[in-house]
Amino acid sequence: MPRFDYQEVLREIHQEVQPLIGRGKLPTYIPALAEISPDKFGLALHTVDGQASHVGDSSERFSIQSISKLFSLTLALRLRGAKTWERVGREPSGTSFNSLVQLEYERGRPRNPFINAGALVTSDILLEHLDAPQDNYLDFMRHLSGIPDLRHDEEIFQAEITSAYRNRAMANLLKDFGNLSHAVDDVLEFYCFQCSIMMSCQELAASCLFLANQGVSSLCGEVLPRRKAKRVNSVMLMCGTYDAAGDFAFRVGLPGKSGVAGGIVAVVPGKMSLCVWSPALNEVGNSYAGTKALELFTTKTRLSIF
Ligand code: GLU
Repeated sequence: MPRFDYQEVLREIHQEVQPLIGRGKLPTYIPALAEISPDKFGLALHTVDGQASHVGDSSERFSIQSISKLFSLTLALRLRGAKTWERVGREPSGTSFNSLVQLEYERGRPRNPFINAGALVTSDILLEHLDAPQDNYLDFMRHLSGIPDLRHDEEIFQAEITSAYRNRAMANLLKDFGNLSHAVDDVLEFYCFQCSIMMSCQELAASCLFLANQGVSSLCGEVLPRRKAKRVNSVMLMCGTYDAAGDFAFRVGLPGKSGVAGGIVAVVPGKMSLCVWSPALNEVGNSYAGTKALELFTTKTRLSIF
């Protein structure tokens, strides 16, 4: 296996994706996201042996959106352990991230923690364990990333709560089926708060390092025991990129989690964590240029897990 100069690989990718940056659509259902320049592109990686490389807008913060679902699951597994799976499954949904239909058919048990219904249940679990949920969650993210000044964006937070029509419908269904123990408004507010946390590619790549290293981060020590970290990666591979998880595994071949603001984190088990950001999305809601950049990365480095 050749040794790679990762900085050079990232530089090549940045150049090759230039024609694709801005291709796709900005999401319109959260007004603050529709105003971001679609021409942004950042890519960063952290290796388990302490190297860091980055290109483009990799230090600019964006709202982590659904990438938070990965950290919420991690926190739920720390606090609640395997009992988390009593209330949420681990099967790909094959439907869009905010679908209501499946939840009704399956009587309020979300398919996995990476669709919105699943993340609402995870948020409900976290509310049972955290005294000051928003502060505690931010502290956890500061611990993982090693960045003490992480914050949420109040404007995005409020806009998400105001326009959370579908998420509210989902939370109501979950409540009706007995799978939420807290008030719908409280769960919804905590979920939207998590989505509105602002982080850069460099900070997100650093925060996922534990998933590349059997649960242990070189920045902050053990985050999860090895057997649980392995499971988070497997759920990411199968469910992390909406209903395009199959195509993402086919093209990129890494566990990954995307968000509607155009960020995608990915993990090369045993080696490194990566994060790419480019706000314009493909038809399933994953970053268009970001997906292509990760595909180029595994093609050039042969680091796909397959
Ligand atoms: N805040 C977004 C929502 O719940 C997150 C969705 C996403 O990133 O996929 O609609």
